[in-house]
Amino acid sequence: MQGLILLLGFVIGSFLNVCIYRIPKGESIVFPSSHCPLCGHIIRWYENIPVFSYIFILKGKCSGCKEHISMQYPIVEFVTGILFYIFFLKFGLGILGIKYLFFICFLVVGVWVDFNYYYIPDRISLSIFVIGIISSFFSIGFERSVIGAGIFALFYIILYGFGESFGYEIMGFGDVKLAMGIGAMVGYFSLYQVFMFLNIAFILGAIIGVGLILLKRKTRKDIIPFGPYIAIAGLVIGYFS
Ligand SMILES: [Zn+2]
Repeated sequence: MQGLILLLGFVIGSFLNVCIYRIPKGESIVFPSSHCPLCGHIIRWYENIPVFSYIFILKGKCSGCKEHISMQYPIVEFVTGILFYIFFLKFGLGILGIKYLFFICFLVVGVWVDFNYYYIPDRISLSIFVIGIISSFFSIGFERSVIGAGIFALFYIILYGFGESFGYEIMGFGDVKLAMGIGAMVGYFSLYQVFMFLNIAFILGAIIGVGLILLKRKTRKDIIPFGPYIAIAGLVIGYFS
């Protein structure tokens, strides 16, 4: 069963790659079938086996035009598979477990869209919020979910408000909406939990932000998306809640 969940995660990760590529462009995530964005080469079934095809069959290149294919594809598949596996081991496949599998899917898409385009699509944050609220009736309880949404978002709203009043964007409003969704999903359990949620995001953000500047991949003036750190913090807090 564990092996099957891992494989399921890889396969779903492959679908999430399609979502990451097409949602920001406003394209359908169902049609047309997957093709190379450069030469239009239709990807054959054996070129589309998650993780495996990229490494062993395509070797990182499109078989049509030989152009390099982004590492994003195997990484997203691999990360989704591993997260599915880890959360399945802890939560099983009850309401709580299924809820977290959806949570993982939406966060993976949100994180990568934020990396690539510097925004988190509203339908990602909203979906997390709605699934969190609905599933709460059958798992953690409605009250925890609603309080979680409010309290997880509160600090980001304050930062956003501060930024607005000084005419400087510290935090995007997309981050507020994502934090709200995560709060609804994970639910409020203790102030310590909220404290850890904020800390993990800011410490990760600081380490990676400084790292990118030191590696000269970014300068201090660049936008460094914060959504990914909020998402990782949400996953860690969800796992330990
Ligand atoms: Zn191609």
